[in-house]
Amino acid sequence: MENNECIFCQIAVKKRDAVIIYEDEHTMAFADLYPLMRGHTLVIPRRHFTNIYEIDEESAADLFKTVVKVSKVIKEILKPDGLNIHQTNERAAGQEVFHIHIHIIPRYSGIQLFKFHIERRQAKREDLISTFDPVIRRLKGMTVLP
Ligand code: ZN
Repeated sequence: MENNECIFCQIAVKKRDAVIIYEDEHTMAFADLYPLMRGHTLVIPRRHFTNIYEIDEESAADLFKTVVKVSKVIKEILKPDGLNIHQTNERAAGQEVFHIHIHIIPRYSGIQLFKFHIERRQAKREDLISTFDPVIRRLKGMTVLP
């Protein structure tokens, strides 16, 4: 399952060094080597999935369980004032390593880093409906009702 070209697969099998913060059967959390902020952590599945489109729901659940666990401990120990969870898919969104990963970025009051501060306008309901209607229909087709 491992991809020899992938640096995160190399970290997952310990062929490449990383400061490992947490690991279990399915996931691993390690320090970002180019931290945006003190405590910047990456969480990956051990198995190679390129992005959100490729990962299955169970593996994503395992991944996010580790994100929750590590985030709570970072909050407790490093005491950031806030925390961003960030994830990108495909080059257009800024993905640089093509093994799905989730950034945990502690934030500290008074240290400007980034924020989504783009002027936004309220959408028209009919535009939202025309955008999402095919998405809603597709998701309804996938839902298994109890
Ligand atoms: Zn990989």
